[in-house]
Amino acid sequence: MQLNETHEPTLTSWVESANGGQSDFPIQNLPFAVFRRRGTQEPWRGGVAIGDQIVDMAAAVKAGLFAGDALPAAQAAAESTLNHLMGMGPLPLSRLRAALSKALRAGSAQEATLKACLVPQSQAEYALPARIGDYTDFYTSVHHATNIGKQFRPDNPLLPNYKWVPIGYHGRSSSIVISGQAFKRPKGQVKAPDADTPQVKPSARMDIELEMGIFVGQGNDLGDAIPIEQAESHIFGLVLFNDWSSRDIQPWEYQPLGPFLSKNFASTISPWIVTMEALAPFRAAFGHPEGDPQPLPYLSSPENSAAGSLDIQLEALIETPRMREAKAEAARISLTNYRHAYWTAAQMVAHHTVNGCNLQPGDLLGTGTLSGPTLDQACALIELTSGGKNPIQLPNGESRAWLEDGDTVILRGWCEKPGTARIGFGECVGTVLPAN
Ligand code: MN
Repeated sequence: MQLNETHEPTLTSWVESANGGQSDFPIQNLPFAVFRRRGTQEPWRGGVAIGDQIVDMAAAVKAGLFAGDALPAAQAAAESTLNHLMGMGPLPLSRLRAALSKALRAGSAQEATLKACLVPQSQAEYALPARIGDYTDFYTSVHHATNIGKQFRPDNPLLPNYKWVPIGYHGRSSSIVISGQAFKRPKGQVKAPDADTPQVKPSARMDIELEMGIFVGQGNDLGDAIPIEQAESHIFGLVLFNDWSSRDIQPWEYQPLGPFLSKNFASTISPWIVTMEALAPFRAAFGHPEGDPQPLPYLSSPENSAAGSLDIQLEALIETPRMREAKAEAARISLTNYRHAYWTAAQMVAHHTVNGCNLQPGDLLGTGTLSGPTLDQACALIELTSGGKNPIQLPNGESRAWLEDGDTVILRGWCEKPGTARIGFGECVGTVLPAN
């Protein structure tokens, strides 16, 4: 994905809140969501974020703002899910981005017409941006895999396949929810190490997993692999992803087939999908550490080595009920970067399809917990608290080994580097409710 005039850092918008470097959504970002005005029965439709506003794509298409080669993608972006837009592939999407960039630019002749199509984000509610047919979760942080492995298998933390094969499992899409939704603490079978029999009870070890979610764009036919050179043209864009996990249900159930009910009760995504084109300025070189096996040929390409990683800063914050009552700011519990991942997004797509498995527009791939190399970059409580043994201390004197009822977790992500416009992902927010 090449840089073009839509990435030009000096571009400003007539939507003033998009300018000045503070907003996650300057004119260089232009992410997609599905929204409506909160508290109404309006139809869900696609929107594009600009500053603190949303371009209502249904209204903009109706107002005749798009013509020529930008029109097909604009019409797809106005639908109640973005699956059709995702399935069109990168070229129509890029044409729509170019048209939106021109229309939102300071001095645009379309300002008056487009201004009537804006909805303030403060008045919006969001839906899942796509019908997510399938959800696959990977395990692409070698630091996370090693930290977890130490707790489950102290003598053998990193299994020998890890450095050869991008590990993943098939998750469940029906319980993926949009940011802002609360969910009930799961119940399940838990077996204490010294007990003879398991008990069914509310999970006492509720955890987060700070991940990125990758929305698949155009799919592939069953039986056809996607070569790594083409893998990124099958990716629509990225969201923040909290893959909530129960660490007391997991160890009892996960052998031999992997996680099941410890993972599929809820996963939360942020509403705004940042496109691969918007992320183009933030590419980073990829490579395995010296001495590690080099990726097999189907997982390797010159482009993937030169720029397969993404420089995205990520943080997780917690807001306890006491903090909320005191109107205290949420406390950061982790700060990391997606570029620490051991496998890239392109490698995930190439590996997922090497056997002919068909991906479909709107499928979601989780990166796995994106822990970095040091403890303050760990992205799950099981790592941050050493399996609950060392609770984290919060600024108001509270501590947490695991999440308690009423706790809210907020994920944020952003990209910044000199000579480019800073872009962000907004927030991914979820709250744990008491079990039934
Ligand atoms: Mn996960």
